[in-house]
Parts: sequence; C-alpha cells; structure tokens
Amino acid sequence: LASDESRATATPMMEQYIEIKANNPGSLLFYRMGDFYELFFEDAVEAARALGITLTKRGQHMGQDIPMCGVPIHAADDYLQRLISLGFRVAVCEQVEDPAEARKRGSKSVVKRDVVRLVTPGTLTEDKLLSPSESNYLMALARIRGTSEPLLALAWIDISTGVFRLAETDQSRLLADILRIEPRELIVPDTMFHDPDLKPVFDVLGKVAVPQPGVLFDSASAEGRITRYFGVGTLDGFGSFSRAELAAASAAIAYVEKTQIAERPPLAIPERESAASTLFIDPATRGNLELTRTLSGDRDGTLLKAIDRTVTGGGARLLAERLMSPLTDPEPINRRLDSISFLLGEPSLCSDLRAALKQVPDMPRALSRLALDRGGPRDLGAILHGLEAARAVVDDLEKVMLPEELGQALADLRALPSALERQLSDMLADELPLLKRDGGFLRDGADAELDEVRALRDQSRRVIAGLQLQYAEDTGIRSLKIKHNNVLGYFIEVTAGNAGPMTDSPEGKARFIHRQTMANAMRFTTTELADLESRIANAADRALAIELSAFDRMVEAVTAEAEAIKKGARAIAEIDVAAGLALLAEEWGYHRPTVDASRMFAIEGGRHPVVEQALRRKSDGPFIANDCDLSPSGDGEFGALWLLTGPNMGGKSTFLRQNALIAILAQMGSFVPATSAHIGIVDRLFSRVGASDDLARGRSTFMVEMVETAAILNQASDRSLVILDEIGRGTATFDGLSIAWAAVEHLHEANRCRGLFATHFHELTVLSEKLNRLSNATMRVKEWDGDVIFLHEVGPGAADRSYGIQVARLAGLPASVVARARDVLTQLEDSDRKNPASQLIDDLPLFQVAVRREEQKKAGPSRIEEALKAINPDDMTPRDALDALYALKKQL
Ligand code: ADP
Repeated sequence: LASDESRATATPMMEQYIEIKANNPGSLLFYRMGDFYELFFEDAVEAARALGITLTKRGQHMGQDIPMCGVPIHAADDYLQRLISLGFRVAVCEQVEDPAEARKRGSKSVVKRDVVRLVTPGTLTEDKLLSPSESNYLMALARIRGTSEPLLALAWIDISTGVFRLAETDQSRLLADILRIEPRELIVPDTMFHDPDLKPVFDVLGKVAVPQPGVLFDSASAEGRITRYFGVGTLDGFGSFSRAELAAASAAIAYVEKTQIAERPPLAIPERESAASTLFIDPATRGNLELTRTLSGDRDGTLLKAIDRTVTGGGARLLAERLMSPLTDPEPINRRLDSISFLLGEPSLCSDLRAALKQVPDMPRALSRLALDRGGPRDLGAILHGLEAARAVVDDLEKVMLPEELGQALADLRALPSALERQLSDMLADELPLLKRDGGFLRDGADAELDEVRALRDQSRRVIAGLQLQYAEDTGIRSLKIKHNNVLGYFIEVTAGNAGPMTDSPEGKARFIHRQTMANAMRFTTTELADLESRIANAADRALAIELSAFDRMVEAVTAEAEAIKKGARAIAEIDVAAGLALLAEEWGYHRPTVDASRMFAIEGGRHPVVEQALRRKSDGPFIANDCDLSPSGDGEFGALWLLTGPNMGGKSTFLRQNALIAILAQMGSFVPATSAHIGIVDRLFSRVGASDDLARGRSTFMVEMVETAAILNQASDRSLVILDEIGRGTATFDGLSIAWAAVEHLHEANRCRGLFATHFHELTVLSEKLNRLSNATMRVKEWDGDVIFLHEVGPGAADRSYGIQVARLAGLPASVVARARDVLTQLEDSDRKNPASQLIDDLPLFQVAVRREEQKKAGPSRIEEALKAINPDDMTPRDALDALYALKKQL
C-alpha cells in the first residue's frame, strides 16, 4: 500500500489514508468520515469478518476495488470492545479541523485527520470496555545488564484508575510476578521478546506480551521522561529506584504517551513493591488453587468469587489485588484483621456502611476519563455522588473509636474537597445526559445567562403554541398545527384539502409562505415564525456554549483535586473490603487467625471455602471440618510434614487445598474458615495438585508433574508451605514410588518446610519411622456391606488399603470386571507379602547419607577428569608429560 506508485495514483483522501495507515502498523485504522469510522483494504476484510458486519467497496485503487466496512460512531465502543477482546489493536483517526477550513483551501482539499489514540488492551478507560471489578494493567518489562547478573524490573499502570507500581524481579520468579498482577498487556523490548531464555515466559502469556522498539526502554533517558511526565525537576521526592525500575517505569510512560497521543492520564507517583513483602505463589500453584480463575478459565467456582461481598468496583478490585498478593509481614496483616474484628463487633455500623458504600460510583475511573477529555456529564455526576456518599460514610464512622486502618481511611475521607462537592451540586442537574454535546446538564440557577437564554427559549416555545391557536382562529382551520423537524425547523401544517384560506386569498398568500407540498398535507411558514425559530436556534447554540464552558471549568476543578479524590476512593475501597470480609466471616462462621513470625501451622476445624459453599448450595450434606497441625513439635525449630493416605474420593485433595487457601486468606488479612488458626508467616506457597494437562505445549502430564515438582524441591525454604498431591502417579508404579519416596525425604531433610503430601503409595507411610518431623494421616472411611462410605475425616495413621475396587464398583464398573479385579488384587497382595516394599526402609541408607555418597562419588573424579581433558599428549615433551603426571597425582 505504501509504495510510491500506490501513493501517486491515489485520490487525495486515499493518499491521506495510506499515509496514516503506514504510520500505524499493527493496528486496525478507524478512519473518521462523518458519523462513521470507516475501515479500508485488509483492515476492512479482517474487521468485517471479526465483527460480522457487511463488507462493501468504495472506489478503486490501482485498478482494484477498495474493500470497505464501517461502524457508526454511536456504537463504536461496542465494536471496539469486541475487537479488543479478540486481540486486535485499533488506531482511532479523527478529523482534526473543521471541514469548513478544508473547503477554504480548495474544493479538492481533504479535511485534516490524525490518529488521536491507539486503543490497546492495557490502555482502556471506557466503562463499556472495562470490568468494574477488575484492574486493567499495562505492564512494562525492562532489563539492565549489570556487572554481574542482568537485572529485571516490572512497572505496571492502570490508566483507568491511575495506579502505578514498580518491582524488581529475576528470571526465576518473572512469570510468577507477572501472573500475580495479571496484566492485560505486557510490553517487552524487541530483543528480550526474542531471547530464547525468556521464550517459555512469553509462550505462557500468549497475546498479552507484545514486543516494542528498544528505544522505549532506554535507561539513560528514563529519568528525564518520568520527571517530564510528572512535571517535577527531580525524582528525589519519589523514593529511590534502581536503573531497571526506572527503565521499566519510563517504558510504561512512553507507551501511555504513544497510545494516548495528546492526552496525559493522571498517574499516581510510582510506588515500589518489594518482592519480599508479598507471599510468593508460583504460577502452577496460582492456577491449581483457582484463586481468581478456575483451571478452565471461569470466574465462578474461584476463591475470589466465594469471598467477595464487596459492593463497589474499587472494593472488588482491591479484594482481588489482596488475594493475588498476600503479605508476609504480620503487622499490616494484623491491621487489616483489626478492621474486620472491629466491624464484626459493630453489626449495625457495618450494615449502615455497606448501605452508604453501595451509593458510591467508580470515582477513579470517572476521574481518569475526565482528565483524558473522554468524560461526559455522568462522570462529573459520579464524582459528585461519590463525594456525597463519602460524607455519609464519614458520618457513620465519626461516631466510634476506630482501629488504625479504618482511622486512616476516615482521615482520607474527611480530606475530600467539600468545596468541589458544593460546586458540582450547585451546577449539575439531577438527570444527566450521556454526552456533553447534548446539553441540559446544568441545573436552573447554575448560570444567570443560561437561565435567561433558557427562559427566552421557553418563552418562544410558548409564543409558538400561542401562534398555532391564533393562526387556526384567523384561517378557520381547526386542525392547523405548528410542527418541528430537523430539515425545515418550525412550520405550519394543514391537510391539502384545507389549505384554501392560505393559498387562495390574497391576504393568506401575503401572510403564509409556502414551504413544501406533501402527499396530503401542505406546509407553510410566516415571518413571525421564522423569526421565533431563529431566536430559538440561537438560544440553543448559546445555551450549549455556556454549558460546555461550564463543563470545562468543572473538569478543571475536579482534576485539580485528583489526588484527594483518589485517596478518598482508596479509603472507600478499604472500608468496603473490610466490611465485605466481616460479612463473609459472619455468614460462614470464619474466625480470626493468629498470624505471627513463628513457624506454627495449627488449624482446628478447617474447611474448604469454595467446596463448603458449593455443598450448601446443592444441599449436599455438611462439609466435614478437619484439623491440620504442621507446627514444630517440642522445642524443634522446623515445621512438620504430613503424609496423607486414603482412598480416591476420600477428600485428600480438598483437605490439601483448604489448608493452602486458609494460609492465603490469613495472609491477605481475612478471617478464615476454621474454628481456630495459628499461622506463622509463610514466605512461599507451592503446590503440585491435580493432573493439569499441558499437552498443548507438547509436554506430557508426567513431564509437567516433574517440572513442577522440580521447582518446589529447588525453591521451597524452611518458611514455605508445600502441598503435593499424588506425585509419581503419572508413571509406572516403581518409578512413581521411588520418585515420591525421594521427594518426601528431600522435603524433610533439605527444604525443611511445612507440607502436606497426599499419596496412594501406602508404602511411603513407613518413612515416618525414620523421619522425625513426618507423621501419617489418613482419610477415614467405613466399610459397610462390601461398600465404602467416605467420612471425609482426617485422622492419624495410615490407610490400610486403597479401596480402589470399591470405588470402581460405586462408579458402575461391570460386576464381572469388579470380581476379576478382586482376584488379581489378591494374587498381587500375596506376592507383595513375600517381598514387601516396606523392606526398603531397612535396606536403604538414609537420605542424607545417600546424598553425601553421591556427591563424593561425583566430586573426586570429575576434577581429575577436567585436568586430563586439558592434556594433549601429542603436544608434550616427555618432560611435560612427567610433570603433568605428578600434578595429577597431587590432586588425588
Ligand atoms: P480425593 O482427592 O481423595 O480423591 P477429593 O478431595 O477430590 O478426594 O474429594 C472428593 C469429593 O468428596 C469432593 O468432590 C467433595 O465434594 C467431597 N468432600 C471432600 N472433602 C469433604 C469434606 N471435608 N466434607 C464433605 N465433603 C467432602
């Protein structure tokens, strides 16, 4: 398209189109023509297919028809939303001058157009394109090659709310850190995007990761770009940032500038998050535990859905953020818990607060749209109603002594600008139109001139109504009407048969000017009517001009208070989260966990928050509560491991997950589904549960299992919590048992973490004889008449059998197969009695001893091997050879 020939033969408009299109590769171009955005060429073909709209043609280019499709302006948001969700990016190109200007330049001249905005998934602001309960992050990844390790940093921005954060990371935790934030769009320097070491990360992220030119990430100009954006001389006031963090922050800003073009969204000053302050949850665990999305990608059935009782968009976003990033410092966790305890003790305050909170609109998003010049009267209304509702919240909170977090929230709400609230409530009408150009959003009394103009307009309308009566009387046509349409303005209409008095008499002709003859009606005007008409039109123009300038003044007043409004909105969100969690605790009997720096993990009467609610919904019997105690025993330093056996369907996975979820809930600062819980801070949470197939990426179930297990054994610390379900299941029995055996030993001896290990290898239970912090637990069952009944109770000890055959029978396997399986099992058990695997515990050396021997075996020879490899006998004199021999001998 951009070839010289193509340009030379194009019409002036097509020439403009081609040039703009060439400057915006990778985006569909929405080209504004009148009341439509038009798409041409390949864009039209793609968009028509994606949106299911008609593909037409418009003129020719180089002898070929130009494919075209269009979307009407008023419905553009809907189409944009669909395109964005399908992974397209859109460049919105508007007319940037009055068509009259273009006509002045000559009849052939094209109206100037320019791209005013790139719409990408990470830079959305429209309500229609955003989910109220989810943040919409744009994230930038930058890398600095330092003297030793290259340093990585992430910066993320939600331009719909102004949130701006930064964190350093490293390659091993990069994916986990990205998934914790769940960005909609991650921008990456070209070179990194194609770095084979990082490929697995970008593979997982798919379309979310987009390469961008390296200049955006330039660290030398980073500080300058950031200070310019915030209009400050130096970054000193913002805190100290590493070079990688600055590069990431500046790249994120550069991308915002690139996509928003003329507008500058109000961003908060970048806030630094340190990796150590949040509970590290590795990507597999995050997926497996179904925190905010189930394995199949749904929102229903997640922990978030089960605990969310918030009533505001900001509250829902904050709750999700806390759930995704639980803390590791007991102090702030306890501050959050204090808020919930307090609200639980004040049930009527809590319900008053929730009623007031329900009235709070999404202030940060309205603010952002206003600042980006994309706002309408309803966004101003949102700020006003937010300020009013915040005052109701203040009134509720002022009556009582508050714990710290709520006290701070109250202070932020008190600091909201009351002058702005007064200004907006004096100005804004009760009912607000969507678009400012529709006018009518200023209330009567807001502006003296506007009142006058409106009075004039209303009076003219009354005069017109009076004219209708008078004309009907004068002409004797009782059905005479004065009507209005957009083409003629005001006109007099009579049926064709009645028009005599106006067309036939001389005084009628002198008074009524003929405008239009319809099939059965005739239309006229008069000088009086035309005069009134132009007065009304002028009044409407004047009224709109007054309203628009008042709109701009209000927007200015609002953006001047952006900081206070954002703080107030954050306070509202915090109160909403605390009140929601208090309600949840009340509804489901959650209790306050004790969270401290110990290595305790003592849960009494623990339940699975999601399964419990699902059982109740289906009236499927009660959830059986279970204890779990992984605390250090005696004066021991390290926490304990439980080896959990029991039949399939006995409730092992449920038990494992519930304890991980209780840890997450406690550290995000929520009460937990247990009668009591004492949790010493967990620094990292790992899980290997379920057989999440990854065949799409060409890895077998077993391979995935081993990769995940490797990550755990390599990374879990003595403060971590590890949940392992059925490892070794994906391979042959002996392989599987051996791997599971070695993994348990490693967790106990090397990682020394707290952990739960569910297995169907009963042979493993003998390990508890040798490993002092390992105990056996089992899911209890009752046998009754050859069937099994699952009690879902966890008790000490080991299951003596796996009841696989009984479960198979319950599942409806044919009776003949069940009987045959029983026979085979009896045979196998007989031969196992002669040579049981439990023998292993006596025959195998202990894990540490075995590891040391392995290491010794390796370390010795390899050094000598290295030296030998370096020797090349052909290049040596006999003397050299002898020296080398001595040197080698010395190394032994
Ligand atoms: P396993 O991992 O041992 O095969 P699951 O944890 O998948 O067993 O549990 C099987 C079913 O039993 C679940 O679908 C759940 O509905 C039910 N269940 C599990 N634990 C409990 C419990 N504590 N109370 C009531 N029902 C439970």
